[in-house]
Amino acid sequence: MKVMKFGGTSVGRPERMKQVATLVTQQEEPVLVVLSALAGTTNSLVEIGNFLAAGKKQEAAQIIDQLEKHYHSFVEQLVSGKEARQDASQILEEHFGFLRIIQRISFSEALRRDILAQGELLSTKLFGVYCSENKLSHALLPALDFMILDEQDEPAVSVISTRLKALVEANADKKLLITQGYICRNSKGEVDNLKRGGSDYTASLVAAAAGASVCEIWTDIDGMHNNDPRVVEKTFPVEQLSFDEAAELAYFGAKILHPASIWPAQQFQVPVRLLNTMEPRAKGTLISSLPAAPGVKAVAAKDNIIAIRIKSSRMLLAYGFLRKIFEVFEKYRTPIDMITTSEVAVSLTIDTDQHLAAILEELSPFGHVEVDREQTIVSLVGFEITTTPAILSNLALAVKEIPVRMISYGGSPHNISLLVPATAKTKLLQQLNKEIFGLS
Ligand code: ADP
Ligand code: ASP
Ligand code: MG
Repeated sequence: MKVMKFGGTSVGRPERMKQVATLVTQQEEPVLVVLSALAGTTNSLVEIGNFLAAGKKQEAAQIIDQLEKHYHSFVEQLVSGKEARQDASQILEEHFGFLRIIQRISFSEALRRDILAQGELLSTKLFGVYCSENKLSHALLPALDFMILDEQDEPAVSVISTRLKALVEANADKKLLITQGYICRNSKGEVDNLKRGGSDYTASLVAAAAGASVCEIWTDIDGMHNNDPRVVEKTFPVEQLSFDEAAELAYFGAKILHPASIWPAQQFQVPVRLLNTMEPRAKGTLISSLPAAPGVKAVAAKDNIIAIRIKSSRMLLAYGFLRKIFEVFEKYRTPIDMITTSEVAVSLTIDTDQHLAAILEELSPFGHVEVDREQTIVSLVGFEITTTPAILSNLALAVKEIPVRMISYGGSPHNISLLVPATAKTKLLQQLNKEIFGLS
């Protein structure tokens, strides 16, 4: 079995959804299709949740109306038969009916997550209607029945595997299985999600759980590019990446992959392919355990980083100081991305301000604490890059006139990370394109 995941733009228009059906039915192996919500839907659902949280019911109702209109015209172009149109209308009634009812009940965070789940429920069900109309034998596997989080809000891999395998077996006569990306249930049994962009994570988790031959991530670009194509003009697709390289790029901001989406495939040795729905013949990127060639493969940028500096003369010749600092971050379950130390100070970065106030308070007895917000981590990722001499000298050229706040070099031979103010990101990515990849 192979897993094929299609992102929002890949199903965002009726003709694209039809193309997805063609693609998945051309496969020799049975396919488990993971679908995102139609492009733009999750953003609208986020807005609806925000308006309801703020008690702005009219504003929420307005977005619900717009969204419903959009779905009605989508369905009109997707299916033409009477029965299919009726089925599709019923689906819209069910989900938009839900969105209307919740305007009348009191808001909660659990309700917000229920709202966010509507996009993937709609896209998969409508895709199912299209498949039925076109006599494509298929089964819908509800992600809420098998995609389960544990008490730490991490995917409960063995539960997912057992439940998914049972569902796949029960539908062994079907060559086409369809499920929702992104949505899941938490340990309390509530509807939850795998965070924005989480359908990639679903795909990797189900590919690992089902022992798939490959996990294909179909999107709107022909693979992982060497640099962020939203920021830099001339970029090119990278043909091959190791799991480690892809995991670092995803974690450090390459939006094409959800930050956590590589580890399940890596752990269960399922190769991942990044492919372009708009150009299915393009080679894309293969991510596998094949040995990587030395050199920088790509650079990525992670925004909204907060840098914290703790200065203390008590650090001088002391041991146990770093442990105490790390314990504060551990207590608030806040991961540290970058760290640099001098004899009297330590600088580190985090990517969330969720517990910042409490963290700062607990750090204050250790010394003078300074905070810089709106920073960006720019990472160079590849294989043995710190041991390839030309890279460091080219990097020196690329940081010309860039106010670098931190550098992390040597932690791994495969990654060099720089922390810069967000305002310097574009210039740095462009200069790296020139000095590291020879593109101007
Ligand atoms: P989907 O909706 O299919 O999940 P995303 O928008 O999440 O698609 O991811 C694809 C987008 O990621 C591309 O359109 C591109 O703009 C952006 N992107 C950022 N960095 C990279 C990169 N290094 N390589 C390819 N795409 C990237
Ligand atoms: N629909 C969700 C989002 O927009 C998940 C995804 O597309 O991967 O974030
Ligand atoms: Mg995505």
